[in-house]
Amino acid sequence: MAPEQNTCKICTRNPATVPESATVPRYCTTCWDQRLKQLYKLQDQFRSQRAMRTTEAEKYFAYHEAVKDEDGLCAVIFCMHDNIADHLDVSAYLLPVLPWDEKVAFIYPEGVEMEVELVDVFLSFVEGDLISGWRCRSWTMEITRCAPGAFWVDSADRDAGDNRKAEEEE
Ligand SMILES: [Zn+2]
Repeated sequence: MAPEQNTCKICTRNPATVPESATVPRYCTTCWDQRLKQLYKLQDQFRSQRAMRTTEAEKYFAYHEAVKDEDGLCAVIFCMHDNIADHLDVSAYLLPVLPWDEKVAFIYPEGVEMEVELVDVFLSFVEGDLISGWRCRSWTMEITRCAPGAFWVDSADRDAGDNRKAEEEE
C-alpha cells in the first residue's frame, strides 16, 4: 500500500510537502510561506544587543517593542561554548514584562487561524538571531521565568588576597 498523501493542515486542499525535514509534512508551500512570513513579522518585534563577550561566552539583552519600560528589556540570554564537546549551552531568563503564555494568532487567506505562544516566537528569535551566529556541533537551551524584583551588585574590586584564596580552592 502506498503511503497516504497528506493534505495541508491549513487550506486542506493542496498536498502537504513542507517542512521537508518533518517525517510527515503538514503544509503546502503556499501556506508554509505565509506561516513563515507571519512568524518573521512577530520575531521582528524582538531585537537583541550583546552586553558582554569573552572567548567562550556571550551575554545578550533582548528587547521587545511592546515593553515600554527599560527601553523594552524583556529577557537576558547567556551563551556558553564548551570547546571540548563543541556544544553551546544557552540560558534564557524571561522577565515578567510580557505575556509569555499568550497565544499569538496566525491568520491565513483561507480564514483559518492557528496559534503559537509568544514564548515560541521568542525561541525562534533566539535560534535565528543569536544561536545561528555561533559555530557549534550542538546546542541546548534552558528557559527560566523570573519573578519581578531583579537587582544588581555594582562593580566590586577584589584584592590580591581574594584571588589567592580562589586559587587555593581550585
Ligand atoms: Zn495549504
